[in-house]
Amino acid sequence: MTAITESAICTTCPYCGVGCGVTARPDGAGGLEIRGDKAHPANEGRLCSKGSALGETVGLEDRLLAPQIGGQEASWDTALDLVASKFRAAIAEHGPDAVAFYVSGQLLTEDYYVANKLMKGFIGSGNIDTNSRLCMASSVAGHRRAFGTDTVPGLYEDFDQAEVIVLVGSNLAWCHPVLYQRIAAAKSARPDLRVVVVDPRRTATCDLADLHLAIAPGGDAALFNGLLAQIAATGAVNAAYVAAHVTGFPEALAAAQASDPALTGLSDADLAAFYRLWIGSEKVVTVYSQGINQSSSGTDKVNAILNCHLATGRIGRPGMGPFSVTGQPNAMGGREVGGLANMLACHLDIENADHRGAVQGFWQSPAMAPGPGLKAVDMFRAVEAGQIKALWVICTNPAVSMPEADRVRAAIAGCDFVVVSDLTAQTDTAQLADVVLPATGWGEKDGTVTNSERRISRQRAVLPPPGQARHDWQILCDFAARMGWGAWFDYANPAAIFREYAALSGVAGALGRDFDISDLATLSDADYAALAPFTWPQSARKRGGRFFAEGQFYTPDARARMLPIVPRLPQSALSPDTPFRLNTGRVRDHWHTMTRTVKSARLSQHMGEPYLEIHPRDAARLGLGPAVLAEVSNTHGTALLRVLESARVPQGSVFAPMHWTAQTASAGRVDALVPATVDPVSGQPESKAATVRIAPFKAA
Ligand code: SF4
Repeated sequence: MTAITESAICTTCPYCGVGCGVTARPDGAGGLEIRGDKAHPANEGRLCSKGSALGETVGLEDRLLAPQIGGQEASWDTALDLVASKFRAAIAEHGPDAVAFYVSGQLLTEDYYVANKLMKGFIGSGNIDTNSRLCMASSVAGHRRAFGTDTVPGLYEDFDQAEVIVLVGSNLAWCHPVLYQRIAAAKSARPDLRVVVVDPRRTATCDLADLHLAIAPGGDAALFNGLLAQIAATGAVNAAYVAAHVTGFPEALAAAQASDPALTGLSDADLAAFYRLWIGSEKVVTVYSQGINQSSSGTDKVNAILNCHLATGRIGRPGMGPFSVTGQPNAMGGREVGGLANMLACHLDIENADHRGAVQGFWQSPAMAPGPGLKAVDMFRAVEAGQIKALWVICTNPAVSMPEADRVRAAIAGCDFVVVSDLTAQTDTAQLADVVLPATGWGEKDGTVTNSERRISRQRAVLPPPGQARHDWQILCDFAARMGWGAWFDYANPAAIFREYAALSGVAGALGRDFDISDLATLSDADYAALAPFTWPQSARKRGGRFFAEGQFYTPDARARMLPIVPRLPQSALSPDTPFRLNTGRVRDHWHTMTRTVKSARLSQHMGEPYLEIHPRDAARLGLGPAVLAEVSNTHGTALLRVLESARVPQGSVFAPMHWTAQTASAGRVDALVPATVDPVSGQPESKAATVRIAPFKAA
């Protein structure tokens, strides 16, 4: 069980949801020596460029080392007294829904647990939401509709056993590189493995593809509806499985048969080739991420995919199943711990009075949230409207990463009271805050994270907290004590928080929920320190960590639900004024708003500035040459981006990365162009389908 080598510390990468194990050891020059952890099942020693450069990103140049009030250094006591007095006054005068926490998929589970308990159980509001709303809320909603819980059925080892891997809206080569390496290795070992990439762009991931389907933006639900209709037409429905374990098949099939395949923009030959591959091989894994989730119909797209796996019974067995991969290191942990405004801890439902009562009873809390709080876009609308009087942003940068970012920036600037806890006071959001609190970051803090395959791993401290920085859970507990709830937030260490969380999961298990790690509720501090990576639940781990092997789901009748899906196109319509579709996403070597990756010169070499990937024929038509500046605009904002001509994007569509901020390239912020239109079920914004006009930049 020991996870600490002779002198290097075993910990987990803080970037994407692959959740790679790394070993880290101080290099004597202020950095860290980083290696892939060969013993970690998620990566077996592999690392990508970002993970291997972690040691170059721990410098203290821009770190916030003491609390600040109005830009002036203050003591912790003064800062926290002020925060508590402002929150107390806002709650007393306007009620608990007048305050909000906006948190992050990069928080550790223990931090998340404390923040969630504080807001939902003690302040008594559901107003805690997370930037994970922007990356995988549609998968959560799709899982809950189909399975009754937010359960990811499969494991990474399914990739090693699959005969066909379909990657939908997922540039794995850049965004989940070690999973891409894993599939590449599987394909090298088994040349008969077929890989299909469904993406409007010919991304780097297509280098591995046997078939690339350059689908029209928004065509995914029509593609999987067409697949379901073809499954039925070719007699490939697993009738016995559907009869025993599924409801809704006739309605879902009727909707699929009425669906127009022309919405995919694909040729009949491409559609036929895809259907032949998918139907012809039982061991199919359908992997999907932001291209599916970041859509105004993202939840329907997820269910269109799940429908096909349920109709064929290709779920819960090795080498097959739908597989949502998460964007952030602890997006999954945040889901488990109830970090979304519409969920409770341990996959309990906030809409369910019995569940709320059970959690309140466990916490012995005075003021349980009566129902869901505001999802991210609605939360910042409420800030804009003056309904949120006190906002606490933890470990994220919404002033630049939210859709309609300029509007969100103005809303935060106009909020009565804003607190930011972060590594630095230099983020766009921290610059707008009344109080900035120095938090520890990766390499300095202890806790757990959960990756895309439900594997819980430890993050461990290798370096001491710099200056006066405190851990996020400590900051929140210090705040709770000032609010009069110290007895409920008197944790000695992250292990104590984890034990309480594990015990609460036993309550969830008793209520029939999937998330139950209660056999870890008595873990000693020493065993927590040495905790090796494991997939939950523990009982399933003994069976291989796989869900739904017996065809039992978490719905009232224990059957999975297929849903009738009517494809919908992106909400922003192309027009003569805004004739281009803007797709946004990550580049290979940067992470989110670059707070960490910008410190590595090596990482910045890959893509050094914001750019616009545009088809050469579109560029020529607009009078744009290679490397000139293009002005990209719509009603929400304007960005200046360097032209990168590339036939990898289709004509009529452009791509721009999301990483640059007012601090790193003030004119290159693309989230200012993204409309705040959301999926009606999940609340996830449509970040990949803005419409824009493009023109050569002319200096005034
Ligand atoms: Fe880190 Fe993701 Fe790269 Fe693994 S694949 S090293 S988790 S960024």
